[in-house]
Amino acid sequence: MGYMPKICVITGDGIGKEVVPETLRVLNEVHDFEYIEAHAGYECFKRCGESIPESTIQTAKNSDSILFGSVTTPKPTELKNKPYRSPILTLRQELDLYANIRPTYNFKDLDFVIIRENTECLYVKREYYDEINEVAIAERIISKKGSERIIKFAFEYARLNNRKKVSCIHKANVLRVTDGLFLEIFEKIAKLYENFGISSNDYLIDATAMYLIKNPYMFDVMVTTNLFGDILSDEAAGLIGGLGMSPSANIGDNLGLFEPVHGSAPDIAGKGISNPIATILSASMMLDHLKMNKKAEIIRNAVKKTINNGYLTPDLGGSLKTSEVVNKVIEFIRDEI
Ligand code: ATP
Ligand code: MG
Repeated sequence: MGYMPKICVITGDGIGKEVVPETLRVLNEVHDFEYIEAHAGYECFKRCGESIPESTIQTAKNSDSILFGSVTTPKPTELKNKPYRSPILTLRQELDLYANIRPTYNFKDLDFVIIRENTECLYVKREYYDEINEVAIAERIISKKGSERIIKFAFEYARLNNRKKVSCIHKANVLRVTDGLFLEIFEKIAKLYENFGISSNDYLIDATAMYLIKNPYMFDVMVTTNLFGDILSDEAAGLIGGLGMSPSANIGDNLGLFEPVHGSAPDIAGKGISNPIATILSASMMLDHLKMNKKAEIIRNAVKKTINNGYLTPDLGGSLKTSEVVNKVIEFIRDEI
């Protein structure tokens, strides 16, 4: 079937081992892929002493895309002082996945996307304690290069996905140097996209937190710095039925890693009742990234019909098993192809 992209598949721990294989069944309905399995997570750590072996990083680097399930973060007492690297943070750094995309839609009327800068801001973790003055200090890094690439990314995303407005979320009235720079770059890039029919505006972060609850329909694409994006995207997930429904993408200049927002959910792992939708929607974002937008749309339509017809797992108030929901998604895909 022509071009066969290489997908690095990391199922991970807990329900990752259920939702990822179920998602591959959906992907196989729309395209042939070459899947290369790679290991990461707490079970991997217990088995081979590493949470993310070098071979996994290499496999990820040599693939076209990465589909990631979820990994369990062990408690410090379980580690017995052995070093444990977060697999997902390691991959974001090693592959320079600087853009975090979190769409929020409910298959009815709500539909916006948060694009969060993934590498700088307070997450550079340059913290120290000034003993003399007895103050704890954290540096917040906003670079010109980092801001330009995330803001360009947001406008390109809007252009390619037929979105009409990009909003910059910031606190430039107080943080005049850091967010002042971010906003200045935003305004410069926004001008270049007026020709494409994409409008722009900006909101303060505090006002945005309120608007998201009062009137989330006013947003289209939002672009923001790392910490604000982290907080706003969890707030957004709360608008649409929670973790089982929220997909995400981490994108760099070439590669993309696609993962559900949820974790490994040890409380329901092994029962076959985890909601596969977040991972299926993440896979549809992977298809968009691989420029298979029609196929991505077919999957999203099938998910929409599945949800709107009430074929739901228990977290959404239904009684279907993971595999039964996926069977429905596949039926709806077959209707459409
Ligand atoms: P981890 O340490 O891996 O993050 P966690 O205990 O924090 O695990 P999460 O995966 O973050 O668990 O989930 C929080 C809650 O949401 C759990 O009660 C879990 O059962 C539920 N949940 C998360 N994802 C799903 C899903 N896909 N389907 C159904 N329930 C889910
Ligand atoms: Mg969690």
